[in-house]
Amino acid sequence: MSRIVLRGARWPGDIAIDDGVIIAVGTVESEVRDHVVDITGDIVTAGLINTHHHLYQWMTRGRAVGCNLFDWLVTLYPVWGRLSVDDVHAAATVGLGELALTGCTTASDHHYLVPRGDDRVFDAIVDAARSVGIRLHLSRGSMDLGESSGGLPPDHVVEERDAILASTERIISEHHDGEWVSVVVAPCSPFSVTPELMIESAELARRHGLHLHTHLCETIEEQEHCLERFGARPVEVLAEWGWLGPDVWLAHSIHLDDDEITAVGAAGTGVAHCPSSNARLAAGMCRVTDLLAAGAPVGLGVDGVASNEVGGLFPELRQALYTARLREMRPNALMPADVVELGTLGGARCLGRPDLGRLEVGAAADLPVWPGDDVADIAEPLTALVMGPDRRVRHLFVGGHHRVIDGELSGIDMRGAHRRLALAAERLWD
Ligand SMILES: [Zn+2]
Repeated sequence: MSRIVLRGARWPGDIAIDDGVIIAVGTVESEVRDHVVDITGDIVTAGLINTHHHLYQWMTRGRAVGCNLFDWLVTLYPVWGRLSVDDVHAAATVGLGELALTGCTTASDHHYLVPRGDDRVFDAIVDAARSVGIRLHLSRGSMDLGESSGGLPPDHVVEERDAILASTERIISEHHDGEWVSVVVAPCSPFSVTPELMIESAELARRHGLHLHTHLCETIEEQEHCLERFGARPVEVLAEWGWLGPDVWLAHSIHLDDDEITAVGAAGTGVAHCPSSNARLAAGMCRVTDLLAAGAPVGLGVDGVASNEVGGLFPELRQALYTARLREMRPNALMPADVVELGTLGGARCLGRPDLGRLEVGAAADLPVWPGDDVADIAEPLTALVMGPDRRVRHLFVGGHHRVIDGELSGIDMRGAHRRLALAAERLWD
């Protein structure tokens, strides 16, 4: 493969790529056999990393729009219980395609719905990620605590613990390569799992050297559930289960007190901050700057599109900046460069990927090229990017592969994929 040179970006200048890795940044001298992509005036960052998502939720977008988390879940669980493997594939294709078009080069998907125990849904998500061509951190989610045992989900959408663990082993052996597909062990949330599942999942992940992921402290109702059921707050319960460590990242972590922030930071446990979804469900605002000060890695997430109908990661940059400023009523609480760092390096730290999240020599060539023409009047490039109008990428490179070319996702007919999904989604509500 000849060397690829991205020539003429307003920020950070030229970039040379060889064998999937960035080999030069700034001014790159021409070589005869270069494959040159002209990006004059555009802006390039490291690839965005989505640290929390539920791709299947694209099948139920725009429902329960005035509900809090528990009412929203109770409305949607029975519908999700009707999903087929094909539905999950359709949603993953659209979801990952939209992520690629909005600059995401690595997506984690927390999939915890396995209707009728058919775990081919995970194979379908991997298949979609390979077609779209971005990296996937596939969180094998799970629920084993149904309504009749004191959980929130109806009994027919939960699985047996042994089946979950066996399925997780299968998915690891079939799909995990640590580069394009990384499997994560991910029981869903305190109100939908048993302590046994949490403890055995942590043991399984550590046997394989894999990361752990779950929802924690998203709402006050969850906190009340933990106090009632365990007589302890969610972070205490999590620590008891062996779930505080540098190989764990948590979705949301909004309702943490000072001691819990210190504990999460000291453990090096990461947080996936999903500001749009949190706003949509009125869940609250994550204490991002306190978590960062305590040493916790913080990344950004779309969360499922049933609670963030946009489905793109790019808008979360601005939303994170605004949310921090509103929460603290401090106009420099987060600056444009800070949120770009959350969306790239912070995400890579959550996922345990030292090869990703940096636009520098030696890092993976995961690079969105953002159009710069209509924001050329804004002097500082990252201010233009984050505070200017929303962007879709002009180009996207993942491991040096040119996945989005002149705004079109290579090899996927996105309009057709959206149309097919809309037809399938309608059927779920009949
Ligand atoms: Zn979530």
